[in-house]
Amino acid sequence: MIYKPHSGLEDFSRVLLIEDDTSYARLVELMLNESELFRCEVVNCTTLEAGMATLETDDNFAAVLLDLSLPDSTGFSTLESLLTRFPNQNIIVLTGLDDEAIGVSAVKAGAQDFLIKRTGILDGHLLVKTLRFSKERKQIISRLEEAQRAARLGHWECRPDRHFFFASDEVYRIFDLDPSLTTYSCDDLLLPECPLNPLLILQWKITPPQERSEELRVRLSSDEILTVLLTCKAHQDVDGGVYYRGIVQDITQQKQAEELRKARDLAEHTAKVREKVIASVSHEMRTPMNAIMGFSSLLLQTPLQPEQTRYVTSILQSSELLLDIINDILQVSALQHGQLSLKSDVFELRPLLQQLHSVMHFRAMEKSLSLEISCHDDVPDKLVGDPQRLSQVLFNLVGNALKFTDKGGVKVTVTLEAHSERQVVLHFAVKDSGIGIPKEELEAIFEAFTRITDKDRFYEGIGLGLSIARMLVEEYGGRLWAESEVGAGSVFHVHWPLLMAAATPAEQSPLVDDSLYAIEPARILLVEDHQLNQLVVKHLLEKKWPQLTVEVANHGDEAIQMMDQRDYALILMDLQMPVRDGYETTTYIRQHLTAPKSRVPILAMTAHIQSTVQENCRNVGINDFIMKPFEQDQLFRIIHHYLSSPYL
Ligand code: ADP
Repeated sequence: MIYKPHSGLEDFSRVLLIEDDTSYARLVELMLNESELFRCEVVNCTTLEAGMATLETDDNFAAVLLDLSLPDSTGFSTLESLLTRFPNQNIIVLTGLDDEAIGVSAVKAGAQDFLIKRTGILDGHLLVKTLRFSKERKQIISRLEEAQRAARLGHWECRPDRHFFFASDEVYRIFDLDPSLTTYSCDDLLLPECPLNPLLILQWKITPPQERSEELRVRLSSDEILTVLLTCKAHQDVDGGVYYRGIVQDITQQKQAEELRKARDLAEHTAKVREKVIASVSHEMRTPMNAIMGFSSLLLQTPLQPEQTRYVTSILQSSELLLDIINDILQVSALQHGQLSLKSDVFELRPLLQQLHSVMHFRAMEKSLSLEISCHDDVPDKLVGDPQRLSQVLFNLVGNALKFTDKGGVKVTVTLEAHSERQVVLHFAVKDSGIGIPKEELEAIFEAFTRITDKDRFYEGIGLGLSIARMLVEEYGGRLWAESEVGAGSVFHVHWPLLMAAATPAEQSPLVDDSLYAIEPARILLVEDHQLNQLVVKHLLEKKWPQLTVEVANHGDEAIQMMDQRDYALILMDLQMPVRDGYETTTYIRQHLTAPKSRVPILAMTAHIQSTVQENCRNVGINDFIMKPFEQDQLFRIIHHYLSSPYL
């Protein structure tokens, strides 16, 4: 069932009766008191002046009943005086029996209605009806007013041939004017200095029945710049006269928000393009880096003069540094695009910490600093998580701590922050006695490319380490933050959630611990279009295992032809190649060759770390990956693994 909304008409109202005949006033009061449809209080004033004074202090009347013959004013001018001062009042004119014509003119002039007074008799029914209508009209106008205020929107009407102009209060407020103090006539509006003059801009551009909208910037007397949306429609009445109705809306805030949004979108777009360029340039740099590092390593294994050894060693060290930067940039880009695959392996924490110590204590020794790592007894050793990423974060924090400490040392403590039956949260605290970080920079250092510059210190790094560390920690559901005091040192805290490993011995990773790397003589096919990379891989492998033969195919088609001729124990496959790329070649081998050739292990060599690339590789039948540029040890281990578990 649908209920009609509450009309509000049964509420109590007030009526102002300006009437000098007190007995007549009493009669009106009595009639209204008897009415159930319009309950009200009647306030009676006997002169126009008293009536206007009452309205001045209190305008909360549903209607004003106005007698036109008063001691201080008679005739039509009584109405005019009242309307000029109170244009928004609902005025109901009371006229004598013979003055019906005056009543009609009063309505034309702006009165809401007129009622004819008969001596002794007043049509009570009509009075109540008129007053109810007044009240309803007042309510509608006040709601319209509220809506206009909320929307910062006002309406106006103009009829130039009759010099008529009206604007709602909100129009005045939009132009920073007080409607109770200022109103403009049609003639005022024509003056260029009139604040509402801009409303006419559209009026001159249209003829009936056209409508037009325009945005306009207006400078207020306060110098504030306003953006308004003007809409104007031209009408023609039956007499052929033209009038205009318009709407003006203050859209300054929407405009500002829109401009902010545009600026933000542009900034985001620029940042994305910049990231993309940096990532793709970095990516392109990995292949030549492979050659530089590979050949430097090979060169170091040849007889060299001491001076030459120094030169080559420093080429190798600089290349490693450059490679670290390239890898950081690529990792930031992968993390920002959610392209890093999360791993979950069983690992032992204490050996991981030992490894951290054994690598980092050399750096500490170089600067005569101490390095202590302690792990609380209640911290479980066998855990499930991503040991590589955990190490990466700890190496970064300890590396920074040593970098920014000149005396004293660095202490790493691992404690149990929280635990449940299956899960633990470990707390790693890396404390140094170094230069410290100003309080206001404690958050900024986690932003990409942020470094605190100090003219007295020179150090390597491009300010990516901590932002990568924080993103990694957060990827795994943890938290990374810092506390510090300038001159006294810093503590970097990490909360890292991990699962506890089941009591059964962890499955050994197939690639761990292979010190001997002994393999049987075998033939490997290297499918790679880049000549320098061909040489590096071939030389490294044949030097490591002279019993290995590495044959080279320049692209996929050549590889397939070579596989026709002979069998290979393993294929190293570049992914991007001319003629037939690594994915197509692998698909062909898996689908069109016959076993055992179709089952040969294929290892992709890729510079991409994105999980999507890895997934695509697995989908076509690639067994594993070698990241370019590769660490020699990683290359040897993975090749050893596949050659020592023959597929034939
Ligand atoms: P980078 O990779 O260049 O070292 P990071 O993101 O790791 O950059 O660190 C950003 C900045 O934070 C550093 O350049 C340094 O100013 C400051 N910082 C990081 N760790 C420490 C620390 N332990 N003590 C003092 N300052 C530090």
